[in-house]
Amino acid sequence: MNFPIEKTKLGSDRKFNLSDPKEREEYFKLKCGVEIEKLKEYLNNGHTFIAYLLGKKNSGKGTYSKMFSEVIGTDKIEHLSVGDMVRAIDEEMQDTQKKAELIEFLEKNYRGFYSLEEIIKSLEDRDTKSLLPDEIILVLIKREIAKRKGKVILLDGFPRNLDQISFSLFFRDLVDYRDDPDIFILIDVPMNVINERIKWRRVCPKCNSSRNLKLLPTSKIGHDDAGFYLICDEPNCDGGKMVMKEGDEKGIEPIKERLLMDEEILKRAYSLYGIPKVLLKNTIPADIAPNYVDDYEITPGYSFEIVDGEIRTIEEPWIVADDDGVQCVSLQAAPVVVSMIRQLVAVLKI
Ligand SMILES: [Zn+2]
Repeated sequence: MNFPIEKTKLGSDRKFNLSDPKEREEYFKLKCGVEIEKLKEYLNNGHTFIAYLLGKKNSGKGTYSKMFSEVIGTDKIEHLSVGDMVRAIDEEMQDTQKKAELIEFLEKNYRGFYSLEEIIKSLEDRDTKSLLPDEIILVLIKREIAKRKGKVILLDGFPRNLDQISFSLFFRDLVDYRDDPDIFILIDVPMNVINERIKWRRVCPKCNSSRNLKLLPTSKIGHDDAGFYLICDEPNCDGGKMVMKEGDEKGIEPIKERLLMDEEILKRAYSLYGIPKVLLKNTIPADIAPNYVDDYEITPGYSFEIVDGEIRTIEEPWIVADDDGVQCVSLQAAPVVVSMIRQLVAVLKI
């Protein structure tokens, strides 16, 4: 796969703090303001599109979606996670009224190789590990899309296997989604980046927000016998010690197979004809990075030290090997979203 390197460098002295929403807004205006206006106008004129987000687990699909909708308009963009959808179905099955409505919907809309009785039984008996058949996933996505008429949908978690890629080719016909295009958004993030994201991930037990001790620390740091830790700084949280989730210390090991399958899906989607593609890359070879991006667009690595009884944060460049072993820098989410916006405008021909 050959993903282009997006040039977002402006060569101006202006620096932006990309974790500050206000500065981020100015940053986007400067780097892709024209494209943002074009996209907004396109959506205001009643056009929409469906984008399939394809990338490895933990490649940042949720983060990019959230930032994209923040820039373009949260009222216009919906992130539809198939994983969340399936979990919601489990809850619907517990509610007599909702369950009856779901079954009525399936009676009208489901087509497939399993009988409806088998499908309903599999929904009733499902433990959270077992997967639902592709046909039922399709019809349930169709139901969710119908609820979101007139909105851009960023579909996350479909296709999740090679069979579903073929389904997705005919998806537009299936959902009768007016005359608007569907687009593949492919996200390429190296295994090592995902590994570090998982290993250093820390979660607040009080508000569940997630940060990263090495790559995305909070503003408050604590220290005890076990070392340095993050203190939650979410505005609505009274600030707990953020902890590692069980299993995170193993990094990508437990999900290696899933990641390899995601990689295979990515390659297959990349080779498809007939569907416009947006190609997003999260890394740039370190030796050429200064030609393409401004310093503040690169993800730094953080470590901590105690000097005179006070905790100090040390910020250093973070260099990580990509899947070909090339030494790279990793990009913050914002420049990747700039690339996404520019490419969307190009493939939508607006
Ligand atoms: Zn919290």
